[in-house]
Amino acid sequence: MVRVRFAPSPTGPLHIGGVRTALYNYLFARKHGGTMLLRIEDTDQNRYVPGAENYILESLQWLGIEIDEGQSVGGPHAPYRQSERKEMYRQYAEQLIADGKAYYAFDTADEIEAMRQRLEAAGADAAQYNAITRLQMNNSLTISATETQQRLANGTPYVIRIKIDPKEEIRFKDIVRDWVVVHASTLDDKVLLKSDGMPTYHLANIVDDHLMEISHVIRGEEWLPSAPLHVLMYQYFGWNAPQFAHLPLLLKPEGNGKLSKRDADLGGFPIFPLLWQDPATGAVARSFREDGYLPEATINFLAFLGWNPGTEQELFSMSELIEAFSLERIHKAGARFDIQKAKWFNQQYLKAKTDEELALSLTGPPVRSWVLNKHTDNPKPMTHDSRLTTHDLPKICRLMKDRVTFPQEILSDAPFLFEAPTAYEEAVVTSKWNADATKTIGAYAADLEIYEGDFLAESVKAIFTATTERLGIKTGKVLQALRLAVTGAGHGPDLMLTMEILGKNEVISRLKKALESLPVA
Ligand code: GLU
Repeated sequence: MVRVRFAPSPTGPLHIGGVRTALYNYLFARKHGGTMLLRIEDTDQNRYVPGAENYILESLQWLGIEIDEGQSVGGPHAPYRQSERKEMYRQYAEQLIADGKAYYAFDTADEIEAMRQRLEAAGADAAQYNAITRLQMNNSLTISATETQQRLANGTPYVIRIKIDPKEEIRFKDIVRDWVVVHASTLDDKVLLKSDGMPTYHLANIVDDHLMEISHVIRGEEWLPSAPLHVLMYQYFGWNAPQFAHLPLLLKPEGNGKLSKRDADLGGFPIFPLLWQDPATGAVARSFREDGYLPEATINFLAFLGWNPGTEQELFSMSELIEAFSLERIHKAGARFDIQKAKWFNQQYLKAKTDEELALSLTGPPVRSWVLNKHTDNPKPMTHDSRLTTHDLPKICRLMKDRVTFPQEILSDAPFLFEAPTAYEEAVVTSKWNADATKTIGAYAADLEIYEGDFLAESVKAIFTATTERLGIKTGKVLQALRLAVTGAGHGPDLMLTMEILGKNEVISRLKKALESLPVA
């Protein structure tokens, strides 16, 4: 039975690397008909950030990563929030003490600091609380059992530390990294239970993975150094360890070093799934959703950050990913975070949407507010412009969707739909605006005026052909001048469809305005 968990700590906005971890867990669970858990690891109360847990839930929901067991959906191992499981952990730490695999330590912060300084002065590589140094410290191994009991009874603060047996060699086979071999003498006696009674990450994580019957631990490479300790802890508890798969790091766009928030700020790209406003500073971080990335594109992009299907296929729906996914195809090497690739995916998914679907997404709140903010001199939502109604939106999407990366650009890259030109592209005026052009455009405006049928791309095109034929002027010679008159620019999307969207009155008025504004000598 495959049971996997995504186990984030709510210490801030979920990073896109965390989303990838969640995605790989989800794909693996679904592929094997298993169960996907969400466990909130909030035992470090100093680092708790309000809102972070909701942010995690909303991010997963936006992307379609479904949770089978968790705080929000319930399940047989509830609660799924570690702070609410606090009382459970102590007994496990005490069980290890009873088995001689852990001990009470009463050292004060000063005593630990003094040990550190002593070891540093002696030139030790690492000042660790370990098999050697513990014999000089203030703990239940160096004081008598009676004294220990007295101190526990009188409320002397203590922690529980694991007692690493330094003679062992720890070996385990990571599904991604293959064999990992570490000598136990390199590990320190990590704290399992803190003086405030809270478990540390290591204790809570192992106990919960065991109790929740986790079969595979799929998590970021930053946890690989903790894995030998975890393997040893399973052994000390006498439990079967789950299988491990440590996912490759996300690297900077240039490929050297770990991706950071700073890289994202400098490169002007998001590394958070959703808008996040820092509760302390009020600062807002860029995000995939608000930047206009579609959830399908974001998923496809993330799936390929550290995995590939081994075929040429690049576009995968969630169900295709589930079908194709395997832990064995995850790469060992770090995955370069190439935002250009994310944009490419976005374009593909955008193009694949119907005009109606896209139009709907343009009336949603993120894009609407983006449009509002972008055009501060025109604070009306553009979709409510006087001439263009939401009923034009699907047509606008058809006009623009092959030319943009993000949905909001469908509107922002088409200012000519919302305002008549106030200036005309100089180079096009010079090369194309001549006597033939003005003659054609004047005649065309008149022909349009008497036309009474539906104002469609095909009809305005046919009329233009008829006008130029009548005048004996080649359409190709004056077409760019027509575009100039209608949009002010020499290049742009389909001109006939543009005119259809603008409508008869607006087109005629623009043609006349161009003739007035651009006299030909
Ligand atoms: N709470 C840890 C984190 O924030 C979980 C690591 C793990 O999956 O074991 O990433």
